[in-house]
Amino acid sequence: MHEAPASACFKFRVGTMELMYTLRGIDDAELQRRITATLPTLQEVIEACEDRAAQRAAAREAAQAAQAQQAPAAAANGQATPPPPAPPSNGTAQPASTPEGWCALHQVPMELRSNERGSWWSHRLADGSYCKGK
Ligand SMILES: [Zn+2]
Repeated sequence: MHEAPASACFKFRVGTMELMYTLRGIDDAELQRRITATLPTLQEVIEACEDRAAQRAAAREAAQAAQAQQAPAAAANGQATPPPPAPPSNGTAQPASTPEGWCALHQVPMELRSNERGSWWSHRLADGSYCKGK
């Protein structure tokens, strides 16, 4: 095994990649013969790489376009959809709140009644009993 006295180095740029190919031989004539034999194969490899790179780029662009169509805001900043805003903290605007003197069970107005222990709202039901709205 002796060191090759002649060598040729090829450098290809394929997209973002660099491909190095080095041929070594005993003399220039042998090297030239091998270069001639190897170059078509190398060219095919390079072209295949370029095809693949172009296909990947096209697929990436298509995916980005589809993403942008579905959620432009999420695609723009790379974040998920923000959570919905928190409900209002003050109870004045809440639809579930029942106004004083109104029975939410029967949807009828109640009357304010009172005795020595306090006062309360109630209304009379059809069967004669009283409802306090709860
Ligand atoms: Zn009631």
